[in-house]
Amino acid sequence: MTRDPQSSPSASAPDSSAQPLVLLKKVNKHFGELHVLKDINLEVARGEVVVVIGPSGSGKSTLCRAINRLETIDNGEIRIDGKELPAEGKALAKLRADVGMVFQSFNLFAHKSILENVTLGPVKVKGMKGNAAKELAMSLLKRVGVDNQAQKLPAQLSGGQQQRVAIARALAMQPKVMLFDEPTSALDPEMINEVLDAMVALAKEGMTMIVVTHEMGFARKAADRVIFMADGQIVEQAKPEEFFTNPRSDRAKDFLGKIL
Ligand code: ADP
Ligand code: MG
Repeated sequence: MTRDPQSSPSASAPDSSAQPLVLLKKVNKHFGELHVLKDINLEVARGEVVVVIGPSGSGKSTLCRAINRLETIDNGEIRIDGKELPAEGKALAKLRADVGMVFQSFNLFAHKSILENVTLGPVKVKGMKGNAAKELAMSLLKRVGVDNQAQKLPAQLSGGQQQRVAIARALAMQPKVMLFDEPTSALDPEMINEVLDAMVALAKEGMTMIVVTHEMGFARKAADRVIFMADGQIVEQAKPEEFFTNPRSDRAKDFLGKIL
């Protein structure tokens, strides 16, 4: 996708390219007594690819969901391209369109064709004309290698194909940042690479990405930075090579010992 930094000027932020695209400041979140996100500070630059890893229950999904406001936060600040996420309504829908999300389960609409799955958002949320949406959808489906499946229903596709459709669907909203929450962990092993390859290609094209995954190959190939989370905190962050060969904290060492 061609990137046009001039396309979304913001009155409040004249030099929008200098500020982080995603900014979290002292973000806290509880589920009842459970403190799930603890003073999270995070800045993701335009075009940066950040891989988030950490033990189960450490708050990775909650972090993603908070960035997209699928989850509220108790306090702190979350900004996308300088703008704080509004609580609800049209403004939220619009800003949410800036943040594409791909989940572990593909969540495609079961009774709509692959093509309709991808055109629905642009038409409904962005008010795009049907033909333009179709054209966009077909080009995105082609990009992830499933354009020949456009007329089928999701159940007729393999898991790997469905997940690539989910990526195309998210891209159809022309997001500024893409969040991936364990996008390959529900897939059969032989399908993991076709999805990771699509993600690597996206990273190479300059998309800003936050990716929760334990796929070290992807992190090594595509990540600018690895963030290690444990117990609701960012414990450590480094370039992938450095993190995997020389983790500093005991928790990261322990975790890597289990998954590598
Ligand atoms: P991760 O993605 O790293 O495995 P999560 O963000 O899913 O971690 O969960 C962090 C913690 O918050 C876990 O202890 C989980 O059980 C808890 N949790 C997540 N969602 C909810 C919820 N909706 N209600 C209560 N507890 C939750
Ligand atoms: Mg999770």
